[in-house]
Amino acid sequence: MAMMKQTQLALKKYFGYDTFRPMQEDIIQRVLDKKDSLVLMPTGGGKSICYQIPALVMEGTCIVVSPLISLMQDQVQGLRANGIEAAFLNSSQSRSDAAKVENDFIAGTLKLLYVSPEKLVAQDFVTLMKAGRVSIFAIDEAHCISSWGHDFRPEYTQLKFLKQQFPGVPLIALTATADKITRRDIIEQIQLQDPTVFIASFDRPNLSLRVAPGQKRKEQILQFVKSRPGESGIIYCLSRKSTEDLAEKLCSNGIPAKYYHAMMSPADRLRVQQEFINDTTPVICATIAFGMGIDKPNVRWVIHYNLPRNIESYYQEIGRAGRDGLPSETLLFYSFSDAITYREMLQKSALENERANAENLDLQLAKLDRMVQFADALICRRKMLLNYFAEHLDKDCGNCDVCQNPPQHFDGRVVAQKALSAIARMNQNVAMGILIDVLRGSHRHEIIEKGFDKIKTFGAGREYSYVEWQFYLAQMLNLGLLEIAYDQKHALKLTEESNKVLFGDKNVHLVRMNIQKDIVEKRREESKPKSRTLSIQEELFERLRALRKKIARERGIPPYLVLGDVTLEELARKKPLLDADLQNITGMGERKIQIYGDLFLEEITNFVREKNEGDGFVKGATYIATYDLFKKGLSVAEIAQLRGLNEVTIFSHLAYLYEKGEVIELQKYINAKEIAKVRSVLPMITEPYKMSDIQKLADGMEYHKIRLALASIAREAKNRKKDE
Ligand code: ADP
Ligand code: ZN
Repeated sequence: MAMMKQTQLALKKYFGYDTFRPMQEDIIQRVLDKKDSLVLMPTGGGKSICYQIPALVMEGTCIVVSPLISLMQDQVQGLRANGIEAAFLNSSQSRSDAAKVENDFIAGTLKLLYVSPEKLVAQDFVTLMKAGRVSIFAIDEAHCISSWGHDFRPEYTQLKFLKQQFPGVPLIALTATADKITRRDIIEQIQLQDPTVFIASFDRPNLSLRVAPGQKRKEQILQFVKSRPGESGIIYCLSRKSTEDLAEKLCSNGIPAKYYHAMMSPADRLRVQQEFINDTTPVICATIAFGMGIDKPNVRWVIHYNLPRNIESYYQEIGRAGRDGLPSETLLFYSFSDAITYREMLQKSALENERANAENLDLQLAKLDRMVQFADALICRRKMLLNYFAEHLDKDCGNCDVCQNPPQHFDGRVVAQKALSAIARMNQNVAMGILIDVLRGSHRHEIIEKGFDKIKTFGAGREYSYVEWQFYLAQMLNLGLLEIAYDQKHALKLTEESNKVLFGDKNVHLVRMNIQKDIVEKRREESKPKSRTLSIQEELFERLRALRKKIARERGIPPYLVLGDVTLEELARKKPLLDADLQNITGMGERKIQIYGDLFLEEITNFVREKNEGDGFVKGATYIATYDLFKKGLSVAEIAQLRGLNEVTIFSHLAYLYEKGEVIELQKYINAKEIAKVRSVLPMITEPYKMSDIQKLADGMEYHKIRLALASIAREAKNRKKDE
């Protein structure tokens, strides 16, 4: 076997991962070569590994600059849970705690030391750093250096002293914000020397994208959440009031939900955040403030109750789902009136805010328009999103609502004519709401009063619902068949193009509305015809999740720091029953196996046993059944009879268990000479070994003995490798 690289060994040992993600390896090599880098990767892309692994294999301590105290504590806790010596220094600490950390740093026992920017730039910290040994400087959230962004941290602009004072120490700056100005700012201000810039794709293929019409959104949300019990999710709302109303509605329907907004006291906010992190409150209805400064990797869905104000915000907010890489859902509710509300808000605040200028307002409005275009889109939404960030996707994604429900076009000329003629007959003086009501023949007061019930097209569009009309009118807007006069109470206006439709022979291709009541139902259908194995796997997952929560509570740490969802999912799927099998589970590093291995194995074994006693076999159960009887002292023959299997099968179970490291006295069934015989014939044949080939060469040795001999040889080889 080829020598495994030190970095790869560390990845396996500390994090329980088998392979690096594509870019990680190159970045790590660059750090090991003591060169500078700038790393742009989306949230969840795996940035931290890029400096944590070099920190583990290099001498000295990696100093990590991180602006958010809560994240810093989280990261350090996570590292310690993996058996890595890490600590932090920031203003939240007592003097004596800080002194202890400083001593550890000077003594060289820390592999990673997280510091806040304030701390880093203080003069005495430089002295401290010189007293110890620094291996790497990692600048996390490096975009905070840019005064253009909203996360600007003045201390970050002083970071150039690092290169000046510690010229030989490699610098790595990391961020999830990719725009060019920020990139340039980072390189200049930190004075990265000849840096390699690594830009990962910002695509997050594990996030599904869905936009749904905004009618009855509370009801839709309730159905959505109900069909995903126990999953963590965030619902972003525009107003404080909607967060409260929505949380109440969910609670009164038996869903543990809380609200979170800027008017709450800091203590209350912290409490809600903590409950979310600890999986005690799965659903949070929040204004946009929520989610910054938390790193919860298993947020399974994000819903936007209202249209976000621009695509950047939208992408950042949905990005809080699925950081662990598992499939996660996003759902955006959109109705045209949301866009109008926003427009008015922007205009109003521009008027009120003396500093605001027209240019800025235009920019905001343009960004809002792009957001609306995205919501109206009839092409792959991911393509559109990535396009916005100047990235191009070759194929449609297959994981957005447009891809899954491809638009069906129809000849929409008559539909368009009805709407346009109604607009003309009302003197181009009405907004969308009235137009639709007139088309649908509503008798509400305002319509009767203005005499709109007398026009020829009154009620001419009854065949479509209100939502359908909104959908078609939005398309007409995008096709240039209509305009909105924002300054005239959003009155709809005809254009030259509309006249061609009304009086000429211009064709209109519209997309038929696929009424999307399927959001909930589709998921239900998908989950109905499940195979038995899948439901057993889900059942076990729930059991393991409950165990994880119990352990987390006892230890006072968030559940995801015990084990991630990826690991639980793999445990539920592979159902390891023996210590040795745990090593092949993603996320099971040495430390995690040591502390939690037995607890989880026991739970899985119990589960498998219960299932076994109930309605038949689960994979792995057969070994357990044999092993249970064997440990009770039954002979192989007795076990075979009891279980209705032949003896060779029982022996093969014992061989398997022995190979995995269980205590079984093989010499009862096979002697050293026989093992040596089998060993001597192996070089004459090729892997995978065939029992019949071995039997021919080993003087007709019985199958069960061959099986035991092979197990003995395999275990010996394994032990030898361990000792090396
Ligand atoms: P970022 O800081 O870029 O948002 P993280 O470093 O927190 O991302 O990593 C996101 C998730 O991916 C974490 O759960 C992390 O453990 C996991 N991860 C990172 N690298 C790998 C890898 N090589 N194999 C498997 N999982 C990985
Ligand atoms: Zn798509």
